[in-house]
Amino acid sequence: MTAELQHTLAKSAGFSGTSLHTGEKVTLKLQPAPVDHGIKFKRKDLADEPTIDANIANLKTVERATTIGEGAVRVHTVEHVLSALSAMGVDNAIIEMNANEPPIGDGSAAPYVELIKKAGTAAQETPRRFFDVREPIHVESKSGSLLVLLPDDKFRVSCTQAGPNNRFTQFFSAEISPALYEREIAPARTFVFYEEVVRFADEFARHKILDIIGDLALIGTRIRGHIIAVKPGHAVNAELARAIVKQHAKITALSVPRTFPPGEGGLDINQVMEILPHRFPFLMVDRILGFEGETKCTGLKTVTVNEPFFAGHFPGHPVMPGVLQVEAMAQVASILLMKLAKSASRIGYFMSADEVKFRKPVFPGDTLFIHAELTKARSNRLAKAHCSCVVNDAVVSEGDLMFTFLDK
Ligand SMILES: [Zn+2]
Repeated sequence: MTAELQHTLAKSAGFSGTSLHTGEKVTLKLQPAPVDHGIKFKRKDLADEPTIDANIANLKTVERATTIGEGAVRVHTVEHVLSALSAMGVDNAIIEMNANEPPIGDGSAAPYVELIKKAGTAAQETPRRFFDVREPIHVESKSGSLLVLLPDDKFRVSCTQAGPNNRFTQFFSAEISPALYEREIAPARTFVFYEEVVRFADEFARHKILDIIGDLALIGTRIRGHIIAVKPGHAVNAELARAIVKQHAKITALSVPRTFPPGEGGLDINQVMEILPHRFPFLMVDRILGFEGETKCTGLKTVTVNEPFFAGHFPGHPVMPGVLQVEAMAQVASILLMKLAKSASRIGYFMSADEVKFRKPVFPGDTLFIHAELTKARSNRLAKAHCSCVVNDAVVSEGDLMFTFLDK
């Protein structure tokens, strides 16, 4: 499995139109931005051209449309452009505007999809961040709105919309991919634009999904989960966004606090044991924190006083044997190589270690961060990795490890 990379726009692209609430003419331009930048609005019409982070922490009001702001600066009706950027796979961008509201276009996200396609998208070197739903989250309002977020491998949205007295009930459900979004969701207009010609029989439900995607873009990470929405609106969408951020913060707080590599998608102990044949007492990796691209990987080992080797190494003065740190490096490197080889039917055999240095002793209670970086891979048969073990931000051991691959 290759890590999904962050994307930005290949070049800038813009268009002009009218803003919905103020009726002003506005020009909007999408600009590329670096990795981990996220989406930011830039008010070109104000002194110093202030930027506003498209982040739920900056949410101001949710009546009719979603308004964000920082200090006294506001941007209204952010949801359609954010929806298009998120669904079309743009993680990092600057949205420049010379007014306080994007052009409304035809009331749908189609003009923004066109704009993103005109600019093109470009992969960047850092993996995407995901929020993986681990336990259901739900929010509801007194007016009968209900949003439930369930675990799922993909990002799916199912929406039931109903008019007054539950008349005109509509339902739409889909896994959101760029192609599906462009075809089925983006053209759905906000109801004030319906007039006579309805684009889809269930246009209202589809537009509600468009708005949900836009409002949830404010969490700043992609979601792997299934949103089930009943009569959603900006207020309840924002509440779900806040609940997601809260759960995400809780999960992150439970995780290891330092040198956490960007991007998620690590491996827990069961996944590690699916890849590595090693078992107690020779399994030297508790979990994989994450991968950076295809060439870097970081694992973790909590060293406890109950490790069997401490009994004899040394009685009364427990230190972790250096060779077991090399073993830990070799195990993390082989996980990286297995991932690269995309095959668990072969096993990487540790052939040699060069330039091995033991710099500091490792004691019970230490947390070992095990870094492996692939420096050479030849013909799927031989590979070399530079590895290090780090405790409290200091390298305690390092070395260059060589591997060969054989069938299990
Ligand atoms: Zn809308």
